[in-house]
Amino acid sequence: MKFFNTLTRTKEEFVPLKPPHVGLYTCGPTVYDFVHIGNLRAFMFDDLLRRWLEYRGFNVTHVMNITDVEDRIINKVRESGKPLKEVTNLYATAFLADLDRLNVKRAHIIPRATEAIPGMIAMIEKLIAGNHAYVSDDKCVYYSIKSFPEYGKLSHRQVGDQSTAVARIKSDDYDKEEMADFALWKAWDEKDGDVKWDSPWGPGRPGWHIECSAMSIQHLGETFDIHCGGEDLVFPHHEDEIAQSEAATGKPFVRYWLHNAHLLVEGKKMSKRFNNYYALGDLLAKGWSGREVRYVLLSAHYRDPLNFTMDGLQAARSALQRMDEFLLKLDANPAGIVPDLQSRFDAAMDDDLNTSAALGALFEFIREANKRTIAASEAAAILATWQRIDQVLGFGMPVKSEAPAEVLALVEERQAARKAKNFKRSDEIRDQLAKQRWGIEDTPKGPRAKRI
Ligand SMILES: [Zn+2]
Repeated sequence: MKFFNTLTRTKEEFVPLKPPHVGLYTCGPTVYDFVHIGNLRAFMFDDLLRRWLEYRGFNVTHVMNITDVEDRIINKVRESGKPLKEVTNLYATAFLADLDRLNVKRAHIIPRATEAIPGMIAMIEKLIAGNHAYVSDDKCVYYSIKSFPEYGKLSHRQVGDQSTAVARIKSDDYDKEEMADFALWKAWDEKDGDVKWDSPWGPGRPGWHIECSAMSIQHLGETFDIHCGGEDLVFPHHEDEIAQSEAATGKPFVRYWLHNAHLLVEGKKMSKRFNNYYALGDLLAKGWSGREVRYVLLSAHYRDPLNFTMDGLQAARSALQRMDEFLLKLDANPAGIVPDLQSRFDAAMDDDLNTSAALGALFEFIREANKRTIAASEAAAILATWQRIDQVLGFGMPVKSEAPAEVLALVEERQAARKAKNFKRSDEIRDQLAKQRWGIEDTPKGPRAKRI
């Protein structure tokens, strides 16, 4: 099994520190707003990685933090006039509900930053004692990037030579061009309102980067197997996590760094300005299902940029229908082909989680299988293999279902509306049915309700 490691920029054979155990850390959301589908792509990727490791027999401990104190949260608290906890609980709950709708497995441990502050303070004290950090005249504590000669090894960039002065930066998310000493502890100021904790350096709050170092080490140990996140986190966030952790412990921090590529919507960077900004709730309201969104997010290899489009959702709907029809037919008329399905699927996934090739193998199999008659014993074997594969893909097996009476009544009403050329009403009915995961198929015998 090979994964592409951002640290070495090569595909490496995956060998965990203490097999069969694997420690996996994911940078969770910063809960100041609803997450968008670009964020969700990263969490789908973690889910796929974890499911693949489990499929391969590893015993994974998955930790995903929730960043519930950070610059943007403080801004939201100030703007809304609501307490920090109220703001962060609202978005954290909504986030976890989104993961459920996408059938993403919950991390085993979901620590919140505000509950781990003593560990962060202890780590900062260690860094000061080792001359890797200093208290500045603004009463903030900064990490000295020149104290760590390997600074820049993840993002593959170098700090200037010893003689050049290094700037200092207090904000959590800074420009990719800036190589600066960054804040570990931020002294309280009026803008922070009630949000503050006591520390040896006076009241204040932790910086974002130290939060992840402290929480990952607390739950997974000083060296652990895999850290993942979106590629936008490589610098500065993950670079800073390495600098803090390795300077504090003297040990390698993480063995494999895996990053997913970004997502575009209809070919453009997602932005509220371009009207192409989607939270999961926006897509569900348009009648798409979590399962269809999951399919689109898994359809491209995680290191390739993904262009998320409405056409892509439509294609996902058809692909899932093809899969379901094949499986239901197999269930009803036992069918006879030798399933090399599993070995093709496994080989694609072992090669750095190549989901597009894995899905390609599934559909090629469906095409071949549809050409012949399949014997009973083999149909059972195919279904068992498929169930095993679905442990990884998480689309769920199709359920045979007769449409309930109210759905049939709506299909009839739509037909009548169409005859009367009331297309507004017929579209309304179609959208209403789609929300309940029913589609309408026009057949020579008239329209028929169909599970989507
Ligand atoms: Zn993080």
